[in-house]
Amino acid sequence: MDCLFCKIAAGEIPSTKVFENDDVLAFRDIDPQAPFHVIIIPKTHIASAAEITTENSALVAKIFEAAAAIAAEQKLEKGFGIVTNCGEEGGQTVGHLHFHMLAQRNLAWPPG
Ligand code: 5GP
Ligand code: ZN
Repeated sequence: MDCLFCKIAAGEIPSTKVFENDDVLAFRDIDPQAPFHVIIIPKTHIASAAEITTENSALVAKIFEAAAAIAAEQKLEKGFGIVTNCGEEGGQTVGHLHFHMLAQRNLAWPPG
């Protein structure tokens, strides 16, 4: 499958890794929207948040466990935001489920 984030998960495309375990990978976004901007993905391919089911939803819990570990490791005690964009109007540009973790600036709400 021709999927950018599957290739990053497989190590075929290099990335700056921040966190990794058997199920989850987190790496620096190539075009950061905040001083701290990491992408967290499941290593297995899920197309988007619209494809989360009873069978694969445990991976979402693993992603949030990773986020908490990253926040502790990176000392993000002032807080952080987590966003997943889904579909065309949701602004999704890579068709592999991913969560943006942003920190180290004031994050406006709602997102633009
Ligand atoms: P989306 O727009 O789908 O919510 O998020 C995709 C994100 O992937 C964007 O923030 C974009 O900067 C990032 N991105 C796209 N290609 C690459 C790449 O090759 N390497 C890394 N590290 N990030 C990428
Ligand atoms: Zn993929």
